[in-house]
Amino acid sequence: MLNLLLIDDDPNDRLLIKRELYREFTEINITEVTNESELEQRLIAKDFNFVITDYQLRWSDGLTVFIKIKSQSPACPVVMFTNTGNEEIAVAAMKAGLDDYIIKSPQHFFRLAIAVRSILNRVTATRKATRLENRLQSLLNQLNVGVFRANSEGVLVEYNNAFLRLLGLTPSQVEAKNLSELFLVSNKLSEDTSQVVEITLPQIDHDIKWISLTQTLNTTEAEIYIDGLVEDITQRKQAEAALQQLNQNLEIRVRQRTTELEEVNASLKEFAYFISHDLRAPLRSIQGFAQIIQNQYSDGLDAKAKDYLGRVIAASQQLSTLIKDLLDYSQLNRQQLQLQAVNLAEIIAQALSQLETELQAKNASVNVCEPFSLVVGNASLLLQVVYNLLANAIKFIQPGIQPQIRIWEQAEGEFICIYIEDNGIGIPKERQNQIFGVFERLHPEETYPGTGIGLAIVRKAAERMGGSAGVESEVGYGSKFYVRLRKYNFS
Ligand code: ADP
Repeated sequence: MLNLLLIDDDPNDRLLIKRELYREFTEINITEVTNESELEQRLIAKDFNFVITDYQLRWSDGLTVFIKIKSQSPACPVVMFTNTGNEEIAVAAMKAGLDDYIIKSPQHFFRLAIAVRSILNRVTATRKATRLENRLQSLLNQLNVGVFRANSEGVLVEYNNAFLRLLGLTPSQVEAKNLSELFLVSNKLSEDTSQVVEITLPQIDHDIKWISLTQTLNTTEAEIYIDGLVEDITQRKQAEAALQQLNQNLEIRVRQRTTELEEVNASLKEFAYFISHDLRAPLRSIQGFAQIIQNQYSDGLDAKAKDYLGRVIAASQQLSTLIKDLLDYSQLNRQQLQLQAVNLAEIIAQALSQLETELQAKNASVNVCEPFSLVVGNASLLLQVVYNLLANAIKFIQPGIQPQIRIWEQAEGEFICIYIEDNGIGIPKERQNQIFGVFERLHPEETYPGTGIGLAIVRKAAERMGGSAGVESEVGYGSKFYVRLRKYNFS
């Protein structure tokens, strides 16, 4: 609702003005003021939001009225009627905040409504802009990010509260300061690109505050200025430093641990080698003497003693195999390996011939799929590998089932993969890697005898020859072991 104060002594003019205004505005309430006391009353009541005043008044003049109104309600728009000849006064009043002036003559009255309308629009727009600016300012002040603006020389012209807080400075300490003094970094910026730097600010308590400073050179038609953001990144920097320290410590500890482990490993291997060596001599005499008793004195033994003796011989035979396997395994780490071209076909033939008795005993069928390549390896080591895999393929099978074994190779880039597939009992997925460890067995000695070293030798030997070994298998559907070795290159 427009509550308009119309200050004019001339009743005819008031009539004309009112007519113009009522024509333009539907929601308008006009209060006429014709003397000083009426004006005082309205000023006390404060029941208006727009004023039109004549300059020429019997009891005062428009300028005095204008000053009175503005001193009490600075936001209230005031329009003044002036006679020709008073324009200079009107212009001076405009400079002091008068919203508009109109020459008082009948032909100018029609302009009045337009002027009021445009002032109202302007006032609404200004209020909106002020509200927006206040909101922005309050947001900027609440932010924990310092926001600033400097002129093209780098002299600070605007900043928010957080800017002062982050820098630990008072307004007087930053007043007219150059950015280069505050941050000790150059503000030579190229147009429309942001410069982001992380810098330290020494603090009174000798601590260091890390800040991230972003500066952008903005160019408009009228001016060039630097806009910037200041963010406290001390916590992030401290966390990064702590993490780096942690990583360094961890690396040192891992290195120490690795050295320790390597030492322990080396002495364990030595220990295994010497123990197996030393165990061999007494074991041989146990086996020798037991054999002598069996061969020469068995007539004097009753059935029970013969049974015990048989068990001694079997147990010492098993111990002998275990010691041999252990020795083979520890030898793998000790010996210097000669790598050369090895004919796979020959190795497979030799392994099969060594296993002939077992193959026959189990009525095994072996399908050797030629051709085979030359690989880089060590002949006796590779023979042991193939032998171990074939021996397992015959061994780990359900009783009463005929072992069916297939051997073939497949080229894989620089490598040759030798596959040995059986129709045995298979290996559960989760144990397939474990069985390549020393003494890792999935079955009790009574069901499937063994030492648990065969596959450990297979993997270690493959690795020492520059390759790898593994298995694909499913319980009840057999296993497919493979050994991957480098293909021998003639060049
Ligand atoms: P050993 O044969 O002396 O038990 P290995 O190291 O050769 O020791 O094998 C470790 C374990 O892996 C075996 O005890 C067995 O449980 C499993 N295994 C090895 N080869 C096969 C196979 N072809 N089929 C099923 N299981 C196997």
